Amino acid sequence: KAPPSRKGSMADVPRSLLDQIKQIETLFTVKPEKLISISDHFVKELDKGLSKQGGNIPMIPGWVLDYPTGEEKGDYLAIDLGGTNLRVVLVKLGGDRTFDTTQSKYSLPSSMRTGTADELFSFIADCLDKFVKEEFPEGVSSPLPLGFTFSYPASQDAINMGVLQRWTKGFDIDGVEGHDVVPMLQKFISQKNVPINVVALINDTTGTLIASMYTDSEAKLGLIFGTGVNGAYYDVVKDIPKLEGKLPADVSPDSPMAVNCEYGAFDNEHLVLPRTKYDIQIDQESPRPGQQSYEKMIAGYYLGELLRLILLDLAKDGFIFENQNLSKLQKPYVMDTSYPARIEEDPYENLSDVESLFLQLGIVTTEPERKLIRAICEIIGTRAARLSICGIAAICKKRGYKTAHCAADGSVYTKYPNFKQRAAQGLRDIFQWNTKEDPIVIVPAEDGSGAGAAIIAALTEKRLAAGLS
Ligand code: BGC
Ligand code: MG
Repeated sequence: KAPPSRKGSMADVPRSLLDQIKQIETLFTVKPEKLISISDHFVKELDKGLSKQGGNIPMIPGWVLDYPTGEEKGDYLAIDLGGTNLRVVLVKLGGDRTFDTTQSKYSLPSSMRTGTADELFSFIADCLDKFVKEEFPEGVSSPLPLGFTFSYPASQDAINMGVLQRWTKGFDIDGVEGHDVVPMLQKFISQKNVPINVVALINDTTGTLIASMYTDSEAKLGLIFGTGVNGAYYDVVKDIPKLEGKLPADVSPDSPMAVNCEYGAFDNEHLVLPRTKYDIQIDQESPRPGQQSYEKMIAGYYLGELLRLILLDLAKDGFIFENQNLSKLQKPYVMDTSYPARIEEDPYENLSDVESLFLQLGIVTTEPERKLIRAICEIIGTRAARLSICGIAAICKKRGYKTAHCAADGSVYTKYPNFKQRAAQGLRDIFQWNTKEDPIVIVPAEDGSGAGAAIIAALTEKRLAAGLS
């Protein structure tokens, strides 16, 4: 179903504002031809990432060397360090493609995003301590295996380690980049005598892929469209040239290998993405300019900021917010993704939520202004969804998938209005299918950072028990 059109709702909006909307729309429109050329270039970049010399896209081997069978069984702990929460999950894998989870969320003090490594890992260990004491009041007979979902680019030479390449999504904690995060966490867990062994480090996309394959045999991609963006898929060891010389002797060249693409870094050299001056400004004012170019155009962390920059620009040129105090709006990142998402949910006939959102920012809006804001959110959301699927298209092209379930999670996928329809349309524009049903579809993922991490921990234990690396 196509998203509703705004035509017809704009009758009372003055020409000058309509012209501005039109200009912004032109700037942000990504035509089918452009989507095709972006995804073709994307395929080359995925290949480059797997090559010995490497490229923009890290293409990190995730050391999950088996496919889940659905028969993995047992109790596992999983943690997911997100931007706002630490989630701790006890996963009971049923061994029959089903699982049960019990979880607690601990809110991450916002100062921790830019605090010290010790503060962060000590906080995580404390949360684990609390969780284990609540869930296992009698104690445990042997240490609990834990899968650590760490949603940042971390280089792995084995499943139980990961060296943080660089923080993304506004995280900026000293002393972690360049270090293996597993021993950092294990140190505090052991110091506090929590009976846990960190057995696997997992990217959220890899977890999403594996959890979804556990329940859906058609699942081929694991994707996050959230605060950040990324995707994972299975490649084959012998098709990953940069693994040469790094493989333990018992790993066959024909073995599957989960790959965490880290494709948020796509086009860091700015060859194909249609960057606007607003995208360039977001990049330049971010803590890591020049990195995560693709992510900065589409991820939830940046969509509200994009809206803010466009509105400030229009205000500066005198088109909107006449005589209003813009001091609150001038604060970077004052609008998170929930702003454009909520604004798009407000119907044109009654933009009362838009009105109150801006009143909270100290701005009294006129009705035409609210309609303009609503239209800009549609434009931003449409571009984000259309660009978002270039990574999916590229992986499917690269692997030759004619059909696939692309398992997706993340706040933008689950909560942003119309994202799903717009993304599906983008895929149709690229592949130009003439079938009744789309052969490649995005489907809601299973709980990647809970079940996925647990299944990977189970696969790891099984390999260890069999004496495999
Ligand atoms: C990180 C990825 C992660 C993605 C989605 C990106 O910023 O670099 O590791 O998978 O966000 O959470
Ligand atoms: Mg997450």
